[in-house]
Amino acid sequence: MPPEMRVLAKGYTDTPVIPGQSWRVHDIDRPMPPVITPGSSSTQSQTGTPPSDAIVLFDGSNTHAWANRQGGPCEWQLVAGDAMEVTPRTGDIHSKESFGTCQLHIEWRAPTEIYADSQGRGNSGVFLLGLYEIQVLDGYDNPTYADGVTAAIYGQYPPLVNSCVPPGEWHTFDVVFETPEFDGEMLVEPAHLTVFHNGVLVHLRQAIQGPTKHRELASYSEPHGPKGPLVLQDHGDKVQFRNIWIRELNALQAE
Ligand code: MG
Repeated sequence: MPPEMRVLAKGYTDTPVIPGQSWRVHDIDRPMPPVITPGSSSTQSQTGTPPSDAIVLFDGSNTHAWANRQGGPCEWQLVAGDAMEVTPRTGDIHSKESFGTCQLHIEWRAPTEIYADSQGRGNSGVFLLGLYEIQVLDGYDNPTYADGVTAAIYGQYPPLVNSCVPPGEWHTFDVVFETPEFDGEMLVEPAHLTVFHNGVLVHLRQAIQGPTKHRELASYSEPHGPKGPLVLQDHGDKVQFRNIWIRELNALQAE
């Protein structure tokens, strides 16, 4: 026979109010967080699943959530392994939907065929709001400039460590992006990025200096809106992507 269930208090009404909040410690009336079903992690041979409240941007079945630079159909090809592959010289692709502050999960792998070094090896990129690049590069035993290596905030901050796996193996990026805030022309709060590369923290709430530039200083000289598309870069290399999902975070901020 199962033991009798003990029914315990579900909170309190006589505890102190938490400073800066309207709730008591262990407040019985405080709303519970929404219930979701967590996803599963990928392995090299099997693609994981997103959490139930994520917006799925790519699960291997089609590229309908994406468009080419001109707004036409995505020209990158579906390939084995629930993946899509850059079709070189067809251009960057962008999500049809726009996002602001968010959690992003994306996986990618570099080609095993190596025909260049430095920035010519498995180069692509993940651009939040279409403006802020986290570098995709085959950075495994591949010297290049530090602020352009894999998982760099391109042109600004190298990752804390190089956590690359060999070409042909899947990488994961888990990203928290906080959109910048402007008051008219004035920057009030810069964008921030937190990035895990293959499960390893490589940027901790790093303040970004402005939209990504090549061989130039970044700045917030042109204010922009709070949302933008996710952009994946065609840098001429056949990089593959899989299991792309995003969770918008503004709606979830705790009171
Ligand atoms: Mg790039």
